[in-house]
Amino acid sequence: MSVLVFVEGAGGEIKKSSLEAVGYASALAKKINTQAVALVIGNYSDDQISSLGKFGASKVLSCKNDKLSQPLPMPYASAIAEAAKKENADTIILSRSSVVDAIASRLALKLGAGIVTNVVDLPDLSSGFKVKKSIYTGKAFAFYDLTSAKKVITISKNAYSAVEGSGSATVEAFDPQLSDSDFKVQIKETQKATGDVLLTEADIVVSGGRGLKGPENWNLVIDLAKALGAATGCSKPVSDLDWRPHHEHVGQTGVKVSPNLYIALGISGAIQHLAGVNSSKVIVVVNKDPEAPFFKAADYGIVGDVFEVVPKLIEAAKALK
Ligand SMILES: Cc1cc2nc3c(=O)[nH]c(=O)nc-3n(C[C@H](O)[C@H](O)[C@H](O)COP(=O)(O)OP(=O)(O)OC[C@H]3O[C@@H](n4cnc5c(N)ncnc54)[C@H](O)[C@@H]3O)c2cc1C
Repeated sequence: MSVLVFVEGAGGEIKKSSLEAVGYASALAKKINTQAVALVIGNYSDDQISSLGKFGASKVLSCKNDKLSQPLPMPYASAIAEAAKKENADTIILSRSSVVDAIASRLALKLGAGIVTNVVDLPDLSSGFKVKKSIYTGKAFAFYDLTSAKKVITISKNAYSAVEGSGSATVEAFDPQLSDSDFKVQIKETQKATGDVLLTEADIVVSGGRGLKGPENWNLVIDLAKALGAATGCSKPVSDLDWRPHHEHVGQTGVKVSPNLYIALGISGAIQHLAGVNSSKVIVVVNKDPEAPFFKAADYGIVGDVFEVVPKLIEAAKALK
């Protein structure tokens, strides 16, 4: 028996959230006295693949099948299911992402497994297999008893820290048997998000709202983001007004982020915006209205005009470098 963890990448790099998932799988494997096996699909360097051992994997299955160069849910679910059977894995861990959301449900169906998504802590094994899940866009937690023999768990970003140790993993090539029916849906075109730092992966996000008054002032958001090595986001009306592209819109109907630091500039903090940011570790708000609802969700708040405050923040951030 083993614990299998699926490792996802972006832009040729293994995602930080996947390293967190490997750490989670390794900690779970230790609890049940077994080993964590990582499955990595894609053409990553040998160094990247073997580095998974440092995050707790005992073994890595490396799948470099060109047919899997696009993250299609059906063949990925088939490949992960085959790896789970090969490694006799009862529990399969995936780090939550839009791609994984589509894969995980299909994987659970293929394995006849119970599934819990958005898990935020290691399972409590004292009486069964109890997992803690974030619900209502981070406003509450629910506890689920997973009683099925096979279990699929997706974990929230930042819920478990990736700690680099000195472990090592054996690496084995893995080539799953895929059928034509796995490729009924294909990706015809991919549009890459602009920006230096990927919004969903960023450690720091700087977002702007209608308080910025117009796209001509966005240099303030961009310059602060650059000074902090952050990704940029915005509120929904900002993208509806075409001040910024839609893939930057954060919230209930946009991208959900969970960075270590979220900085909101001239955003009111409507409930639909908060739904996409409330799992951020630290929230800093700049708003000229002391009654703006965002201040209730903020760890630090600056009551002030963005046009006066943000240039000072940029200056201070540059001075830190
Ligand atoms: C079904 C539904 C789904 C939605 N989904 C989303 C979503 O996913 N994401 C999202 O963001 N919204 C979403 N909304 C919209 C949401 O309800 C709010 O309307 C929106 O978040 C407000 O954006 P805003 O804060 O940028 O603008 P505003 O509400 O106009 O607020 C601007 C803020 O800037 C402040 N301000 C103005 N000038 C300055 C200045 N010079 N300096 C400092 N502060 C200043 C103001 O005090 C104010 O608080 C959704 C709405 C609905 C109905």
